[in-house]
Order: sequence, then structure tokens, then C-alpha cells
Amino acid sequence: MRHTSPPVRGRYWPAGRRVFTRPRPQADISLPVFSDLRAAWTGRIELQANALVPLNVYLSDDAGPLADKVARYGGSLGAVVRLSGLPNHPVLPQHDAALTRLFRLAAERALDVDLHVDETDDPDSRMLREVARVALRERFTGRIVCSHCCSLALQTDEYIDATLNDLLAAGIDIVSLPTVNMYLQSRQAGRTPRWRGVTLLHEMKSRGLRVAVAGDNCRDPFHAYGDHDMLDTFTQAVRILQLDHPFADWLTTATRAPAEIMRLDNDDSIGALAVGGRADLILVRARTYSELLSRHQFDRIVLRMGRAIDTTLPDYRLLDDMN
Ligand SMILES: [Zn+2]
Repeated sequence: MRHTSPPVRGRYWPAGRRVFTRPRPQADISLPVFSDLRAAWTGRIELQANALVPLNVYLSDDAGPLADKVARYGGSLGAVVRLSGLPNHPVLPQHDAALTRLFRLAAERALDVDLHVDETDDPDSRMLREVARVALRERFTGRIVCSHCCSLALQTDEYIDATLNDLLAAGIDIVSLPTVNMYLQSRQAGRTPRWRGVTLLHEMKSRGLRVAVAGDNCRDPFHAYGDHDMLDTFTQAVRILQLDHPFADWLTTATRAPAEIMRLDNDDSIGALAVGGRADLILVRARTYSELLSRHQFDRIVLRMGRAIDTTLPDYRLLDDMN
């Protein structure tokens, strides 16, 4: 059995991992490969590219060429919103300068923005509100999605309230990563975790923000488990975030909301069922949410364009050369 040791608490990149800090050669390598894969999987998996780079890139001459390449390949502009070597609090002029450049480069090329923000248990990490503040000041009209946003759950009620107002004003969508963040946050050897690591989806949704659940890591140093299964992600999200009693329309966090955030909702009812739609759906042996969420549903039937596809899972040995 392969064992991956968990990342060091409070650090985004685990020690020893190659850090993607130089976009120029990496973007030239990754984007053409991505483009080929996207073409190969057309009609089966919707793939969108995001330039997930350290925020420092937007303080360098690499930012413009990177944005051009992202535009050429139909991706979105992104960043892990922290500057290496600097704390996330207080907000520094360099944070403002980097985010301003990011939003301007995106606006000039009509790109959407996808940011990984405040993935930490440090309550002083307040980049989420800074993102909203810069987006509002720049009058950015593209789509903005912020994921993680963990530290918000550890901040004061007053600060949370003000942040939610700013997020709503800036039109920012939120993605929570319940499995990944519960795995990483509050992790210290020999110490039982005290919180679940997730952001404030209940408060955000009731405020009118669009919210989704997802995972950005699967069997790697950031999350040791997972199988890229959105039904499993939703099942665990229900437990971790208490999306039940009532279940209400929380299922949309794994269906319609991500489709809308990815701008797929205009394309033949992706993420929703509709008469005359394309019949992409999952059939399960369950009559209620309790039955749905209590079994793994490995015997599910997956329809693509109305036809059942082969859902046989690959043997783990076929994945060995990817480890
Ligand atoms: Zn992330």
C-alpha cells in the first residue's frame, strides 16, 4: 500500500514537492498537453484550464505572456492568493498590486478568474475580502470563483458579515472542498482536530451567493483519498457541512451550481434535468436521500446522451505508473 505523508501544517506546498513558480516554461509544456486531452475527452468530460500559479507571478514580467497563453487556450486566469515569504496579514501593497494586475490582465482578455484563497486555519488570513475589494474597485465584470476560504470560518461574526456583503457585491462564487479541507486543516501529529476546515456555505447560500462543493486533490500529498467521484464528494459534503435536515436544494452544489460557475448551463441543460435535454444523468437504487447517501452506489447507471456507459472502475494496478 502506497503511503503519502500529510503536508506540514500551515504550508500550502509540502516539503520536497516541486513548486510551480515559473510559468513561462511550464505553461508552454502544460497548455498544449491539456489542449490535446480536452479534445480527446470532448463529449465525455468537460475540461477547463486554469492558470493556478503563485500570486508572485503577477508581480513579474511573466504575467502578461501567461495571460496571453491562457487566452489562446480558452482558460481562466488564476492564482493561489498568497505571496511566498510574506504573511497574509496585514494586507500589503504587494497583495493589492498583484491582484490588481491579475484582474486587469483578465479584463483586457475577457477571461474569468479562479482563485484558491485563505486555505489556512490562521484567522488573520484575510485575502478573500481583499479579492472582493480589488474586484469591486476594478469594476471587474467577468466571473470570479474563490475556493477553500477556510479561515473565514474562524473570523468574528462582524468580519464575516462584512466579507459576505463584499462577496455578494463583487458577484463572487464560492467552492468549498470538504474532503480536502477536512483532511488538511487542523492537522497536527498527536493532536485531535478541533474543526472541520470548511468555509461558511450555509451563511453564504442564505445570503444569496452561488456555492458549490468539489475536490481539487485526489490521492496525492494534499488529500490521500478520493476517486474523482462527485457523488462521493456530495455524500461527504452532506456529513461534513451538515447539508441535511432539510436536504433542501443542497444537491445543486454538486450539479447546477458548478455547471453555472463553469458557464456550461446554457449548453443543453448540463447540471439540470429538462424535457428535451441531453439525458446526462446518474440512476441509483435509492428512493430517498437517506438511501442515496447510506450506500456507495457502486452499481449506479450512468447515462450520457441517454445511453448507459461502461462504469467499470479501472484496476488500481492500471494506475501504478501515475503514482
Ligand atoms: Zn486548492
